[in-house]
Amino acid sequence: MSTSEQIDIAVIGAGLGGAAAAALLDNAGFTAHCFEQAPEFTRLGAGIHIGPNVMKIFRQIGLEDTLAKIGSHPSHWFSRDGNTGEYLSEIPLGDYALKEYGAPYITIHRGDMHAVQIEALDQSRVHFDHRLEDLEERDDHVLLTFANGKKVEAKLVIGADGINSKIRERLLGVEKPRFSGWVGHRALVNMDKLRATGLEYERCVKWWWEHSRHIMAYATKNDGSEYYYVTGVPVDAWEHETSFVDSSREEMEAIFGGSHKMVQGLIDATETVTKWPFWNRDPMGLWSRGRLVMLGDACHPMRPHMAQGACMAIEDAAVLTRCLVETGTEDYATAFKLYENTRKERATKVQTISNANTWLKNPEDPAWVYAYDPLTVELG
Ligand code: FAD
Repeated sequence: MSTSEQIDIAVIGAGLGGAAAAALLDNAGFTAHCFEQAPEFTRLGAGIHIGPNVMKIFRQIGLEDTLAKIGSHPSHWFSRDGNTGEYLSEIPLGDYALKEYGAPYITIHRGDMHAVQIEALDQSRVHFDHRLEDLEERDDHVLLTFANGKKVEAKLVIGADGINSKIRERLLGVEKPRFSGWVGHRALVNMDKLRATGLEYERCVKWWWEHSRHIMAYATKNDGSEYYYVTGVPVDAWEHETSFVDSSREEMEAIFGGSHKMVQGLIDATETVTKWPFWNRDPMGLWSRGRLVMLGDACHPMRPHMAQGACMAIEDAAVLTRCLVETGTEDYATAFKLYENTRKERATKVQTISNANTWLKNPEDPAWVYAYDPLTVELG
């Protein structure tokens, strides 16, 4: 792209939400360019759940079958007592999700999913190594300045740039996210060691202890050949400058040792494990202003305990696209209002329950999350 090129829509950030927005906008006939600060994406060791609410969106952009082939299809979300192994809830997914919620529920390596999303985009409109540094709101466009010196004029700017969003900063001022008081350990376990336990590991199970401490464990591949866990552990403070630090099997043993034998098997099969702080913000009173609008973690970050943060970002992208189709880009003010009116209540509810870490611990009906269809829900 030449430095003076003018574009219709700039999506800042090509994460899970930004990549979805670019695909959906393209699908709807808009011309959107994605600007991503990272020089490239790597397969970081972490998994993700994608609910039927979002698999419907992947169907719309032609990625559902590919993701369904790569990902694991758990029959249930089990919740179990971490000490005794007692089942606290057994939430049916698998065929039940297909029939009742209209699409599969998958768990997948997030790097695999993200790669599928990025590869499906028009590569001439994805710009890596473009960190947004500054923006100037003018009468008929926004001037974007990137750290690499490039300048772009965009009619509309979508901030899909995560919890430390530059767009959020412009709309609401500089404010660091709040440390939630919780960290998560993330590990892909050694499968030989896990199999050697002789135990049958469920494809999606959350182990619970007192004070909501937990380990969410699940398969990330269709054939069950990769198994991942993420913990939730309260701590006094986070004192590191980096986004994560190394942890160890010893640390896992110190926190969760002496638990049920299946948990012990997970700990024993742990070789490399990292520790991540969970950051947070309160629900925001402003999602857009002028030609700027936000989606995903930029406007509703949450602790990850409902496994719906990325799903909310992708739902946002689908609804925002529908609103722009409804009004056209010239009437962006109406589109952005319609978008916020459609999304805010649901995103805030998910954010609140996710932060409370109560989701599916006991039997409950998850249909309001999984049966939701962002492609047909009434706008406004
Ligand atoms: P991000 O994924 O953070 O993407 C933002 C992108 O913007 C990044 O690529 C970043 O490099 C780029 N960027 C930032 N600043 C700039 C800039 N100035 N210029 C250009 N680019 C920029 N969600 C689920 O749905 N299911 C799960 O199972 C799940 N599990 C999780 C487990 C853990 C441990 C954690 C921490 C989160 C989990 N989530 C899950 C939540 C999910 O990861 C986030 O909600 C999701 O990634 C948000 O997507 P996003 O596109 O809004 O932001």
